[in-house]
Amino acid sequence: MGSESHQLHILFFPFMASGHMILMIDMAKLFAIRGCKSTLIATLHDKPTLKSIAKTKDSGFDTDVVTVTLHPKDLELPIEKLAPDGLISDMFFPWTTEIAAKCGIPRLVFHRTSYEPHKKVLCDSEPFIIPNFPGEITFSRMQLLDYVREETEFTKFYNEVKESEKRSFGVVMNSFYELEPAYVDHYRTFLGRRSWTKHTGNRASIDQHECIKWLDSKQPNSVIYICFGSMANFNAPQLHEIAVTLEASGQRFIWVVKKDTNVEEGKEESLPDGYESRIRNKGLIIRGWAPQVLILDHEAIGGFVKHCGWNSTLEAVTAGMPMVTWPVTAEQFHNKLFVTQVLKVGVDIGVKQARVEEAVKRVPVGEEAEEMRRRAKALAEMARGAVEEGGSSWSDLEALLQELGQHRLAHSKKI
Ligand code: UDP
Repeated sequence: MGSESHQLHILFFPFMASGHMILMIDMAKLFAIRGCKSTLIATLHDKPTLKSIAKTKDSGFDTDVVTVTLHPKDLELPIEKLAPDGLISDMFFPWTTEIAAKCGIPRLVFHRTSYEPHKKVLCDSEPFIIPNFPGEITFSRMQLLDYVREETEFTKFYNEVKESEKRSFGVVMNSFYELEPAYVDHYRTFLGRRSWTKHTGNRASIDQHECIKWLDSKQPNSVIYICFGSMANFNAPQLHEIAVTLEASGQRFIWVVKKDTNVEEGKEESLPDGYESRIRNKGLIIRGWAPQVLILDHEAIGGFVKHCGWNSTLEAVTAGMPMVTWPVTAEQFHNKLFVTQVLKVGVDIGVKQARVEEAVKRVPVGEEAEEMRRRAKALAEMARGAVEEGGSSWSDLEALLQELGQHRLAHSKKI
């Protein structure tokens, strides 16, 4: 970015949920690596964010953190004080477009998810192909999100999000061009939005976890990894059912169990009696936070049973991992279609529990599994290429930095 006086300064404002924060921190690091000064906005309670920032600082990148509460006025103060060249804020903060405009800086919307097909749905009957949308994606009304099917409070909020996106400087998406070229082009041309795709590549962690040692002793592609994201998605009876099904499948597995908020403080999620000792040689249960990216990169992992959160989807793609899709809520149903119908690197578990066992067995072995693995590995190769110098994500970021630099220049000439 040239001399200190020409260094771009960007503010990053993540939504306060792990899945959103992890990505925004990654992006702040990425901008810092490319020579920008990155400042993260966080509330005092965001300890993980702060820890991660400390790590970033250790590695010598120019990154800082400023804490605010969630009142719009509170954001205005650091913007006025720091006079940054741009604000990248989560899609769930539509009000930041106005604040940025007031302060004369461009706001970029950060989309954690991939393109959302329901935005173009016009028809109620089922099944139907989404109109004006690449890839002949078949949808049913059942698969639409609640707030799309009928008007709810969230529908109003989501409309605000979309409106603020139109008025913003552009959109940064957590993806890479080669993963979904038709959709990126569609977004840029059909919807006429300026967008830049970027993804950071898999994050390396220095923490060695016991599960990695356990995996070291297993054959390649012999273990299934099961994780449903950063939040608890299942209640006790459902967990019980998954536990029984996994045991019956005879597969080796690592299963990440998140604590249900209804379970008393100090108590663990209850699994069937004697379960953990029965599965000791077959399975490993991680309670709490798993080093997901490290696990997915391990050669012993042969498939990933997942809820289809977008981060996990991208991490699986980057690791070249076939998937078993088990969407639970929100845009996860759309991501499932993308994984199974467009990329064809996953099998769908559907809603029937009886199929869990079958799907889990189908992934690590057999011709279908090998075909999916081959496609997934090809995507992983493209993901690596995208972040290398000259690759699509690398070039998109370069173009964005140049535009922000030009914006600053034009703005400073007016003053
Ligand atoms: N994650 C992790 N360990 C866990 C659970 C989740 O590292 O035990 C990370 C995962 O790698 C991903 C993010 O948390 O980066 C989850 O984001 P995703 O969009 O997949 O799902 P969400 O949690 O938002 O539903």
